[in-house]
Amino acid sequence: MHKDLGALSKPTIEKCDLCIVGAGAAGISMAMDWLNQGEKVVLLEAGGFEFETETQALNQGTNIGQRYYSLTATRLRFFGGTTGHWGGYCTPLDPIDFETRPYVPNSGWPIDYDEFASFLPRASKLVEIDDRTWNLEDYIANKKDYVSLDLNSRVFYSKLFKFSPPTRFGTKYRKALVDSNSITVYTHANLTRINLHESGQFVKDVEAQSLNGNVLTVNARHYVLAMGAVQNARMLLANNQQQKAGIGNAYDQVGRYFMEHPEVKAGHIFLKRPQSMKLYFFDYMKIKMYSELAIASSAQRAHGILNMTTALFPKELSGDWAWINKLPKDGKQSYDFWMKAEKNTLSRAPSDVDTKKYTAYQMQIRMEQSPNPNSRITLGDKRDKLGTPQPLINWQLTELERNSIRGMNMVLGKELIESGIGRLHAPPWVFDTSLEWPNTLGGGWHHMGTTRMHNDPKKGVVDAHCTVHGMDNLHIAGSSCFTTAGAANPTLSLIALTLRLSKRLKELLA
Ligand SMILES: Cc1cc2nc3c(=O)[nH]c(=O)nc-3n(C[C@H](O)[C@H](O)[C@H](O)COP(=O)(O)OP(=O)(O)OC[C@H]3O[C@@H](n4cnc5c(N)ncnc54)[C@H](O)[C@@H]3O)c2cc1C
Repeated sequence: MHKDLGALSKPTIEKCDLCIVGAGAAGISMAMDWLNQGEKVVLLEAGGFEFETETQALNQGTNIGQRYYSLTATRLRFFGGTTGHWGGYCTPLDPIDFETRPYVPNSGWPIDYDEFASFLPRASKLVEIDDRTWNLEDYIANKKDYVSLDLNSRVFYSKLFKFSPPTRFGTKYRKALVDSNSITVYTHANLTRINLHESGQFVKDVEAQSLNGNVLTVNARHYVLAMGAVQNARMLLANNQQQKAGIGNAYDQVGRYFMEHPEVKAGHIFLKRPQSMKLYFFDYMKIKMYSELAIASSAQRAHGILNMTTALFPKELSGDWAWINKLPKDGKQSYDFWMKAEKNTLSRAPSDVDTKKYTAYQMQIRMEQSPNPNSRITLGDKRDKLGTPQPLINWQLTELERNSIRGMNMVLGKELIESGIGRLHAPPWVFDTSLEWPNTLGGGWHHMGTTRMHNDPKKGVVDAHCTVHGMDNLHIAGSSCFTTAGAANPTLSLIALTLRLSKRLKELLA
């Protein structure tokens, strides 16, 4: 069933078993798991079914940290959320990402990789990728010309990325959700208030508002916040009427550890002899996969390096642009920019490119950010149209990121020479960490970590079940729960984590 809060003139009250706030990758994945389950589910979505400039403006915030994209350009506020313009790169977090690593402060998840990975096949189905295997050799078996660079696999390997079409969740799953008798989708329903029971231990009800002033109260047995990492933290902090520091924030953890995947052009690889590099080319048209060079876990541990991969683009074709310098700041312009880029990409046929003719490759690194409590989302003085304080984003990197880039380049350079494949040339900033980051440094538009998972409420916001510490019925879905970021684009993994939470909610509601 669908109801538009903007069109309901009387204050409305909904009673249900489960209230999910936010209909993006996480919220829709969870709602799809409750189709025809018997329980009554309400899904609250801030926007309508299409992009609307006025609603998008509710994402506005101010950057007070490292240079970053505008918040109205990095997250979409309508049904389907940011999958309305995501790129569809899919690869899961690695086992090492879950480990406590002495050289990565604040690392170590309270759950292990295998438990997380058991939800990957279902997550893969939701993003419409082949769920067979994540082993590259198995995946490309019998595919002529798709060969890895012959490096020592204990040091470097080729990591498999699969491409979602990309699934636009709002388009793909709208009918199933709207046609379902057990699910009520509310559009134009912006969460504005979370009311706690006087014990402070559970949520009594939540309120949502449309921009034209209509109000909905939802009274549920359980609540899931799935608004993305910036908005999840913002709403917990903004709801400080009953708990002064905000909900779940007794130990000043909400909003901390904001993580991105720093992306930067780092240097060039020169091959000694031309060889097929097809594996490292985007191949949307033919086999919907590609590969990036990744530093192996053993080498990360040996050299104290954060997880990272590098894409390889022929130097001749890569140009000198970087997204951070190219993406429009305005929400609408940025949305149009991505829609146009998608059409161009999908009409390319990279399988036809003769990769053997290129021997110089630009490295475009995407890396894990070390979990840093000072990299954070807080609230500013400005308010949005609904009266909610706007977020301040303070993205901060540490020395470990710079040292890791240097380490990765040194190890790769050595391996290229020892294997006889070629050599690496890196710019001065890679080796001299006293120099500034180059102006190509941006992020992958991946927001993570602001309600991180930790068993200790003094070190995280949610427990191992994704339930807010100290609250019985308030849970969080999405990459805000990531304890560490890995180097993998986050959507597939955040959906797996959401399905895990969904399973737990089924047990609780049974
Ligand atoms: C340009 C771009 C390219 C990307 N490419 C990739 C990629 O290739 N691979 C990858 O893995 N990831 C990619 N991402 C990241 C990916 O889009 C996100 O990881 C994913 O969408 C996050 O899912 P989510 O459900 O947590 O948040 P979102 O998808 O952002 O959904 C959050 C939802 O909550 C709603 N909401 C917000 N506030 C409220 C409120 N107060 N009340 C009610 N509802 C609210 C929003 O309207 C939205 O629908 C990309 C992102 C961008 C910007």
